[in-house]
Amino acid sequence: MSDTIPLKKPTNFIRNQINTDLDSGLHSSVITRFPPEPNGYLHIGHAKSICINFGTAKDYDGWCNLRFDDTNPAKEDIEYVNSIKKDIKWLGFDWNGEVKYSSSYFNIFYKCAEELISKGLAYVCFLSADETREYRGTLKQPGKNSPDRDSGIEHNQTLFKKMKEGEFIEGECVLRAKIDMSSSFMCMRDPTLYRIRFETHHQTNDDWCIYPMYDFAHCLGDAIEGVTHSLCTLEFQDNRRIYDWLLEHLDEFKKTDRPHQYEFSRLNLEYTTTSKRKLKLLVDSNHVSGWNDPRMPTISGLRRRGYTPASIRDFSERVGVSKVNSLTDVSILEGSIRDDLNAIAPRSMAVINPIKLVIENYPSGKLESLKAAIHPQNEGMGEREIFFGRELYIDKEDFVEVAPNNKYKRLAINKEVRLRNAYVIKATHFETDEEGQVKTIYCSYDSDTLGKNPSDGRKVKGVIHFVESSKAISAEFRIYDRLFLDPNPAKFDDLSSTLNPNSLKTKYGFAEPNLSQAKPEMVYQFEREGYFCRDSESEGLVLNKTVGLRDTWNQ
Ligand code: ATP
Ligand code: MG
Repeated sequence: MSDTIPLKKPTNFIRNQINTDLDSGLHSSVITRFPPEPNGYLHIGHAKSICINFGTAKDYDGWCNLRFDDTNPAKEDIEYVNSIKKDIKWLGFDWNGEVKYSSSYFNIFYKCAEELISKGLAYVCFLSADETREYRGTLKQPGKNSPDRDSGIEHNQTLFKKMKEGEFIEGECVLRAKIDMSSSFMCMRDPTLYRIRFETHHQTNDDWCIYPMYDFAHCLGDAIEGVTHSLCTLEFQDNRRIYDWLLEHLDEFKKTDRPHQYEFSRLNLEYTTTSKRKLKLLVDSNHVSGWNDPRMPTISGLRRRGYTPASIRDFSERVGVSKVNSLTDVSILEGSIRDDLNAIAPRSMAVINPIKLVIENYPSGKLESLKAAIHPQNEGMGEREIFFGRELYIDKEDFVEVAPNNKYKRLAINKEVRLRNAYVIKATHFETDEEGQVKTIYCSYDSDTLGKNPSDGRKVKGVIHFVESSKAISAEFRIYDRLFLDPNPAKFDDLSSTLNPNSLKTKYGFAEPNLSQAKPEMVYQFEREGYFCRDSESEGLVLNKTVGLRDTWNQ
């Protein structure tokens, strides 16, 4: 990457459309919106949508509204409203003005419905849910008109008012747009605009017992807010017909600069689900510890795992914007966090599978204070104090009795290895426990090798990490693997059948003493082990593995 040429964002069909609209003078600024339904926590797919909506508006000096699409009170909760606001801010974006709610436009929506009825373009329909399905027809067969379709404007005005006043029971009737029961787009076969729900709403309490459908509320919300480019995912492609039809048939919104909808592909990530319904099931059935379990693909889960906002924004750039649905490789997401953490994470040493190592020619009771770089490529981050003494911990994996070959770079009997940031040691013998497992390794050290090679020209190739035992602090390490066994869990109705039973492994080991100062969410690179983040929800030192040092998915 050259540092003289500024990185230009790659163009995409959304930017092309915006450029066309600005060049032609159709719009003079760009206004987008992010419209989450507050029925769950945001996930990595939403993060892509947030980066596209907020990011595009920002790039064009426009703005993005946060509008809660709160038209289904049965599934919504204020807990979700709050978590969504928090996650967007954490990702580094800010919405324009106050948070908006579809529910604050309920009066306007109601008037729009009245306008459609008065134009003979909407009617109250009493077909049952089953009958409605039957009347809708199929992709091959046109639908049939509802018996209520031509029941007269005044009659419908009265009925709609009664719906609003609670004179019908839930499911007894709905308001439908009168479009075309033989349209090749199923969603245009007289779509439902309003339904009855006797539910208390988190914003409007018991003011309403009729609630607008997404297709009705969404385009009107966009038009009310003067949104120019309404960016959503591909599954709404057909619904664009209703979007346009409604705005074209309402006097106030039928303008040349009215909003238009553009669809991009959803993010689907391997070994992950981005269905809020399925994520909620995982939480409700205690397969994970909560929405912010570090194995969850939620923004709060990724955050607790050690992902940074910059890495998620970078990931969203890397996957780009397209109109083709695909399954994205997890290693792209991991590449983004690895690149970010490699540049910013302080280095440290931790021993995850500890085994005692005694340096027999090192004086008992002596403790040395040594210096090590916090980041070898960034001197400005300074140095940290590490300790060296007669008893240390190293990782079990770094010792074998007999080296398997000449290339073996770790510790073995009669073999030398460097202890990272300290001296060269040589293993002499070891002790085992009753089960024959190595319990303690005994070594000698070369006191003339601190920060330099052995003076007689001996070559020591291997480097292993350690912590000094009297100063080390105990730590719990949580090592995560994919939550699902199948790369495409979307094909399972019951996700529990593809859950990875080993998605969390807990280990108890030791870390450098300065880790006691680690703030929650702080990420360290434990040399040779990977990136670890201090858990924000635990007492004591609990470290969540964010990602390994290298991509090991395909090994
Ligand atoms: P539900 O599954 O409950 O219908 P949803 O996943 O569509 O919800 P919303 O809260 O309606 O979630 O989504 C808000 C916005 O985020 C929408 O514009 C939607 O298109 C977008 N979005 C949701 N999931 C993804 C995804 N996987 N990739 C990209 N954008 C997404
Ligand atoms: Mg949705």
